Amino acid sequence: MINPDYPLTDLHRHLDGNIRISTIWQLAEEFSIPLEQKNLQELVDATQIKVKTTDLLAFLQKMELGVSVLASEQACYRVAYENVEDAKRAGLVYTELRFSPVFMAKAHNLPLEQVVDAVIAGCKAGSRTFGIEVNLIGILSRSFGEQSCFQELHALLRAKNDIVALDLAGDEKGFPAIRFEEHFKLARDAGWSITVHAGEADGPESIHQAIHLLGATRIGHGVAARDDLQLMDFMANNDISIECCLTSNFQTGACTDIAQHPIKTFIENGIVVTLNTDDPGVSAIEIADEYKLAREVVGLSSSQLEQIQMNGIDVAFMTPSIKAKLLDLYP
Ligand SMILES: [Zn+2]
Repeated sequence: MINPDYPLTDLHRHLDGNIRISTIWQLAEEFSIPLEQKNLQELVDATQIKVKTTDLLAFLQKMELGVSVLASEQACYRVAYENVEDAKRAGLVYTELRFSPVFMAKAHNLPLEQVVDAVIAGCKAGSRTFGIEVNLIGILSRSFGEQSCFQELHALLRAKNDIVALDLAGDEKGFPAIRFEEHFKLARDAGWSITVHAGEADGPESIHQAIHLLGATRIGHGVAARDDLQLMDFMANNDISIECCLTSNFQTGACTDIAQHPIKTFIENGIVVTLNTDDPGVSAIEIADEYKLAREVVGLSSSQLEQIQMNGIDVAFMTPSIKAKLLDLYP
């Protein structure tokens, strides 16, 4: 369970995987976009995952309906702003929201730069209104290939001071990290931190590539690390942490039984882990659900969960001054 005496963060949270059902409905009306769904309940059923999907690609398919109504810059701004409000409501003191401009822009061919600017403006406004620290992570959607990722990267780099890190997401098996070395070199040269989705839909080799070829210091999901003792040692000794997302890992099939989730193994092997939601809207969860699962289903102890809460501050991509400010709230 969450201990209110410790800071609560969510470092792996896709804002384009957390679009409110009511917002999808209203934006569809506003832009006269026909939806197959006849009412809100049908929209809930089409957007949220109730139990699990067959694999990662089927999971990602669930995010399509949300971005299908992003027909203007204002729509992107709204989604970003509401994400900050949702994060505040969930009790987070700090969150890193990630987004793929290409994924958000594609249904209505919005200029990528407009999407980036709108998301940044929406997050800044939300952060001011709701009093929560937010940083943004840009995503390259690997499923669209290297060229598309270069365009996506350049749109993100235009706003490099408003973004703290770069991530690679999408079809991990079909588009291995090795194809994106050049992109991530440019990102590191720009001073960004690196986190990469790896070991979610592919094996330990994918995590090796994320670390050694792309320069990741955090790994999204990393489930496959459990099969590679040397890799776990390396991660523990080199401060490479894992962003664990229990529900998402079950729903994508990365982990067939939450009780057997490797988060416990990671901790036992000295790897720093955090608990995160991934796509709260699609998964129909919030951060509290993940702490509850970690306690009641995985069997982590209260002190392990408190340590995880502290890890969220330790491995966050935040400036030392924000870190000090947040830690001041928890004497
Ligand atoms: Zn993710």
